Amino acid sequence: MDHPLLSMIEQEHAGAVAQATAPESGVALAAQRLRDDHQRVLTDLRISVTDRCNYRCVYCRTGNNGASFTELPIAHYVRMLRVFVSLGIEKVRFTGGEPLLRKGLPELIRETARMKPAFTDAPLDLAITTNGHLLAPMARELKAAGLTRVTVSMDAVDPETFTRITRVPGGFEQVRAGIRAAQDAGLGPVKVNCVLLRGFNDSQIEAFAEFSRTEQVIVRFIEFMPLEEDEEGRTWSPQTVVPMREIVARLNAVRPLVALPANHASETARRFTFDDGVGEIGIIAPVSEAFCGQCSRVRLTSDGKLRTCLFSQSDHDLIGLMLRGATDDEIAGWIRRIVLHKEAMHHIGEPGFVKPSRSMVHIGG
Ligand code: SAM
Repeated sequence: MDHPLLSMIEQEHAGAVAQATAPESGVALAAQRLRDDHQRVLTDLRISVTDRCNYRCVYCRTGNNGASFTELPIAHYVRMLRVFVSLGIEKVRFTGGEPLLRKGLPELIRETARMKPAFTDAPLDLAITTNGHLLAPMARELKAAGLTRVTVSMDAVDPETFTRITRVPGGFEQVRAGIRAAQDAGLGPVKVNCVLLRGFNDSQIEAFAEFSRTEQVIVRFIEFMPLEEDEEGRTWSPQTVVPMREIVARLNAVRPLVALPANHASETARRFTFDDGVGEIGIIAPVSEAFCGQCSRVRLTSDGKLRTCLFSQSDHDLIGLMLRGATDDEIAGWIRRIVLHKEAMHHIGEPGFVKPSRSMVHIGG
């Protein structure tokens, strides 16, 4: 039988979806916002600024950590972002590869922070996803540039397991220092994302609960998806995924969990705290509880290609269009047409599933 907590969350999520699909006031507004053919409003852009990375996480990369795709000049990303913001993007996440490796990142954030969202008076929400290795010395500069939030990827709180995963010695202490520096710089609450793989780091679930409570971070467990770089003998399988139900049950045995409401309709994480209100856990379950129906995302790769889904079989040549001299209006019209055909859903685990045309690190996670 379902855990009572899970059915409560399911009901609450249904409420959030109903809100998300309620008609907006103003026909003109509805006509202008970036939408797809499935009536999803697209407000969230993830932009990769490099596909280089200083970690070689075993579930993500082969041994190589160099670039497979080119990087664009910062000014090109700025122009693309300006067009996207004019179409209703309200949240921008800088990612990679490892975005902190990218020269010019503070400048890009500063330029983006000056942009005004087209359909709301609230400022743009500017976030970054980073492995945190280089964060400590950069946190204040990023905050001053206009960054609002930081998500740090961290797949173990045991230093040895951490090194085994990242294949870089001594990283754990450096990343923890990065998290603390981000909190000191006013970039908290920091989210810490952990991708769980069966038999590999699932022993860390309880320790992460403790980490959330002592370090005052929001720990989010993410189900593993078939997005790894191809390497012989290494492929995703359903058995490697640690599903949400199991994570909930294990955390609940540490201390009783209490469900928290979603922050907004397109929130991907199911949120919990513990019975004493200390610590916060999110569980993101794209495999066992797919949330494609609420997806509000589009993606730009470091080489300037537009992707409408992590699992797209192809990407769209935005940089090519720009370099051929298209005006901002032409680019905006092109983007509107492309995103109409955003994929309804991913097909992970279904017979005939085909891996996307790029792996996670070359799309931007
Ligand atoms: N280097 C940055 C970082 O580590 O956060 C940004 C890029 S990294 C590709 C973004 C996120 O994708 C990380 O949290 C990583 O754990 C996650 N990721 C990579 N491969 C994944 C997979 N196959 N399934 C789920 N998440 C994955």
